[in-house]
Amino acid sequence: MDSALPAVAGTDVRVPLADGSSVPYANFDYAASAPCLLAVKEALDLAVPLYASVHRGAGRLSQLTTRAYEDARQTVRRFAGARRDDAVIFTRNTTDSMNLLASCVPLDTTVVVFESEHHANLLSWLHRHFVVRLPMPASAEEAVSAAASALSPGSLLVVTAASNVTGELWPVEELAAAAHARGARIAVDAAQLAPHRPMKMSTVDYVAFSGHKLYAPFGAGVLIGRGDWLAAADPYLRGGGASKLVGPDTVVWADDPQERHEAGSPNVLGALAISAACSALEAAGWPSLVAAEERLLARLRLGLSMVPGLRELSLWGPESPRVGIVSFVVDGWEARALAQTLSDHYGVGVRDGKMCAHNLVRHLHGGSDGSIVRASIGLGTTRAHVDRLVTALADLTAARAAA
Ligand code: PMP
Repeated sequence: MDSALPAVAGTDVRVPLADGSSVPYANFDYAASAPCLLAVKEALDLAVPLYASVHRGAGRLSQLTTRAYEDARQTVRRFAGARRDDAVIFTRNTTDSMNLLASCVPLDTTVVVFESEHHANLLSWLHRHFVVRLPMPASAEEAVSAAASALSPGSLLVVTAASNVTGELWPVEELAAAAHARGARIAVDAAQLAPHRPMKMSTVDYVAFSGHKLYAPFGAGVLIGRGDWLAAADPYLRGGGASKLVGPDTVVWADDPQERHEAGSPNVLGALAISAACSALEAAGWPSLVAAEERLLARLRLGLSMVPGLRELSLWGPESPRVGIVSFVVDGWEARALAQTLSDHYGVGVRDGKMCAHNLVRHLHGGSDGSIVRASIGLGTTRAHVDRLVTALADLTAARAAA
């Protein structure tokens, strides 16, 4: 990536190959977890020697840490484009955020989801709510019309903003307009959008994303959204901080949804890390971030299109707009064997499997239960990495054809 863009840690890491040599690691698994930004590491280096308990500590360091934690909340709010009165709740990750939201959405709410969704969005609702499951839409327009027909006043659409399998961008603004026109709400899984594109939280009702995909370490995510349902629901994590009064027979939960749903000592360093990542991305500016990613993605997709027997997978066709994620299958190669060979012989780290989106992967796989390979890029990806992956795939397919 461009030198003007935020740098990631670990770009000099070398990995051993099967022949005993070593090469710089070419990481193509950003969509699973992105490496830490140097700016995030620096923020953590500053915080680690100084932090203390948040919220109720009277000591100077507690007060400073509380201020930093609450500032992090505001930075994340701004990054997401959230409204002033939206609750910004720190969670463990997107899965935790969606489960928290599911625990707060009134039980008589009809939830509408597409079959293609990541399991974090599909499975969190099935045991509690009446769920309308929509088939894979054949186009973004069909997604909007199918959602519009299924939504009714008081219902909730849960949808991803960018697919973790194909990278395709879902028409969130149109879906939000359709939901709101019908008196419904929309919750957006922005796990794969947040690292790649600006969010327009003000057009939707809830947004969730994870720090570890946004160039911060593991363990912290966020749920942002309208406070009413969140303030009315009992916490699903019960404990200190979530309650304002506990008596022999009574518990009165905190009124503020942020307090109510952050029981126990929060992951302060995780929140500071997310906030530092948000600030670094904002400082770089989305136009530069998007342009750099699109250049690399175009190079990658062009290279892959020239590998014999390789088929890129997409729900809505090759022209549909997408973030830096490409999934594919290669004739004659089982996904696991191909991913392992790329690692062992080329130092290239891709992902294989069903990407926690079994229904979508089955659909892309022509109805069979096979695995696919996914290559995803980010701020540490270089043209040399892209060329190494493409050359490796070309070598491997040529060797198979010759055998
Ligand atoms: N949604 C999407 C679209 C994802 O890609 C992921 C992570 N693969 C998740 C949700 C869940 O994120 P986490 O593992 O951080 O909870």
